[in-house]
Amino acid sequence: MRNFRKTTEPKGEIKEGKNDIYVIQKHDASHLHFDLRLEMDGVLKSWAIPKEPPVEKGLKRLAVATENHPVDYADFEGVIPEGYYGAGKVEIWDKGTYELEERTEDKIVINIKGKKLNGRYCLIKFKGQDKNWLFFRC
Ligand code: MN
Repeated sequence: MRNFRKTTEPKGEIKEGKNDIYVIQKHDASHLHFDLRLEMDGVLKSWAIPKEPPVEKGLKRLAVATENHPVDYADFEGVIPEGYYGAGKVEIWDKGTYELEERTEDKIVINIKGKKLNGRYCLIKFKGQDKNWLFFRC
């Protein structure tokens, strides 16, 4: 878990917003990964993608659900200090908005309007698994 006394990452509570923020942060932690975040229910629902996000159709990426982040986190870039959760450099890889098309327990369909990702994307939860989803252009 993040320790807000030691990191410059934004803290925050649930925010009444448009629920349309889309962002992917490139996170150079112990393992380089990409954090997909979607503003939903007043927070940023988050998934860690171990490889470069699927820019083209046909690429499918594992997306591991991680803890919700505050909406203000969508603008965060910086360095999380050594010795703390997620230590390493965070930079915005892509950012924009999205429209929700469908959302159930195990399926989310969105239309992303970003610079690198643009179009219709699906997040499908693996059957019988808690945190593992598949993220791809659909
Ligand atoms: Mn991360």
